[in-house]
Amino acid sequence: MGRTIPFTAERLEELAQRWPTPFHIYDEAAIRAHARELKAAFAWNRGFHEYFAVKATPNPHLMAILREEGFGSDCSSMAELVLANAVGNRGEDIMFTSNDTPAAEFVKARELGAIINLDDITHIDFLEKACGGLPELLCCRWNPGPLKGGNAIIGKPEEAKYGFTTAQLFEGYAAMKAKGVKRFGLHTMVASNELDPQYIIDTATLLFDLAVEISRKVGITFDFVNIGGGIGIPYRPDQKAMDIARVGKGIEEAYATHLRAQGHPDLKLYMECGRCITGPYGYLVSRVLHVKDTYRKYAGLDACMANLMRPALYGAYHHITVPAKMDVPATETYDVTGSLCENNDKFAIGRQLPPLEPGDLLVIHDAGAHGHAMGFQYNGKLRSAELLLRPDGTVKEIRRAETLKDYFATLDFPGLD
Ligand SMILES: *Cc1c(COP(=O)(O)O)cnc(C)c1O
Repeated sequence: MGRTIPFTAERLEELAQRWPTPFHIYDEAAIRAHARELKAAFAWNRGFHEYFAVKATPNPHLMAILREEGFGSDCSSMAELVLANAVGNRGEDIMFTSNDTPAAEFVKARELGAIINLDDITHIDFLEKACGGLPELLCCRWNPGPLKGGNAIIGKPEEAKYGFTTAQLFEGYAAMKAKGVKRFGLHTMVASNELDPQYIIDTATLLFDLAVEISRKVGITFDFVNIGGGIGIPYRPDQKAMDIARVGKGIEEAYATHLRAQGHPDLKLYMECGRCITGPYGYLVSRVLHVKDTYRKYAGLDACMANLMRPALYGAYHHITVPAKMDVPATETYDVTGSLCENNDKFAIGRQLPPLEPGDLLVIHDAGAHGHAMGFQYNGKLRSAELLLRPDGTVKEIRRAETLKDYFATLDFPGLD
């Protein structure tokens, strides 16, 4: 099954003349269209808010587009808070869902008026001490423990480092109430790259049940429930995108029966997806440098796992298209590699592709989240440029490629300046 790309082979070659490969390119029109689809699925909830998980693609140009679409920022570090602020997300447009948090980051989050989502019961006192008091609104992250099955990337919740136990939540909200906190949120994140809509609906249902129980026992009501991120994307051509309208509908039904019918007042539904917001709409473009034929056939690219490490890290599948050879049958089997001195530096193993030659441009799909963002400089590899394909077809550089000067910038040594 083929996968579409938003540019022709000729256009891509033009771009590669101007911006040497490898580079990442993001499709603005597709990002906006999907953002609108997500919002439409939850339009039934007044106050629905998606906080884009900045870690997926921490580029302020993309964050600004998402802000225009009404999305906030989900941050978990100092740099991510600074980025959110730079694109104009302030106050409750920022969710700070961190763990093992340094005091300075709590202070920064408070300064920006971000919603602070605590990862542990001891963080109530830690935050109070760091900031000289508690904010009026606080959220807690729930780890449901053995209640849910977990999934391949995130593992089992009871083995995950995140969140409060169920018992600690009751204790924590009571403690926060006693300390004068007035508004409350409840959060969990138990999925990652999940494609089954029911899993997300079940997560929301569990949160609604828990919100009702806590509100009864502790004597508080919730402002919002945050179902986290974790909506997956169809990396493999035989997978199907999650039906987001169905997720919205399913959660709407659960909201009616598990929350409103139980007497809890209306609350806002929050979400902090990253992967599905930008992932399918970003592409890594790279050129074949060498083709070698030893015990296997290898196509060596000018990109490496420093530009996209998911295949090497998780054995993840990323689809590969050869735009100039769309009509050529995939008769050859290649390991598609990078140039790191690491044998796992492969984008694909045993992939059926058209016959390749040095100079061919390859497009690696679904690189719009956890692609450039996970980049690193091992082996002296430099991070690539990021480009934006605009709705009018023009292309804008939204991050330049690193240079050797950038790489050596933190060294003070003769001959390296
Ligand atoms: C990574 C992360 C997200 C986003 O997850 P996706 O799988 O990219 O949707 C949201 N919230 C928290 C706390 C995260 O760590």
